[in-house]
Amino acid sequence: MKYALLSDIHSNLEAFQAVVQDLEKEKVDDVFFLGDIVGYGADPGRCIQLLQELTTHSIAGNHDWAAVGLTETDYFNPVAKTAIEWTAGKITSRQQTFLAQLPLTKNYPPVTLVHATPHHPEAWDYLLSCKEASHSFNTGDHQICFIGHSHSPITFVEDKEGTISLLPDTTFTLKDAHRYIINVGSVGQPRDGNPHAAYGIYHADDARFTLKRIPYAIERAQEKITEAGLPPFLASRLAEGQ
Ligand code: ZN
Repeated sequence: MKYALLSDIHSNLEAFQAVVQDLEKEKVDDVFFLGDIVGYGADPGRCIQLLQELTTHSIAGNHDWAAVGLTETDYFNPVAKTAIEWTAGKITSRQQTFLAQLPLTKNYPPVTLVHATPHHPEAWDYLLSCKEASHSFNTGDHQICFIGHSHSPITFVEDKEGTISLLPDTTFTLKDAHRYIINVGSVGQPRDGNPHAAYGIYHADDARFTLKRIPYAIERAQEKITEAGLPPFLASRLAEGQ
């Protein structure tokens, strides 16, 4: 079985559609979505619709829950807050219900899906270092955990002795006795300096993971953000991948 791992689409329909086209070429069997379908971009309703057509395996991101008042936005930066308030007014009540019922985690052993951290998903913390990843490895028994949230791909691996390290490769085979936390990056707002949409492919049969980067119509996504009257920074950052 071949699975696609998508995260942080953030109402960017152009990036999402480009990734969906690639999924068709890749002939994936199923899609897992790791949260943040909305926030920042100009197409929340159409992105929710496309996600619902694509998969039933979706979890919540902080922006999804913030759009329906299920999590605080006090810690959101001003542009994120403006965008989430704008988003809340653009989606239908059915779509609000859809966002509100998204769970924080889903388990498909040996795979766990969570947006932020497996040890405390509702705190929306970032896993950026081996030290931070150690809390997650030490407090859970997940073998392969796929995450998003930081918009930067990164992989942490714990070996048999419990040593945690960063795996720099973007294509690798997962070892049986090791445990993994894999951030698949962001479809709709990459922040690792590469503006191309990011997503992961996991081949369960031979335990192989590949991170893919897909070019998309960035200018069109930017125009829509500008036309919607959203903060200009949300448009400019897409071209920078920041
Ligand atoms: Zn996000």
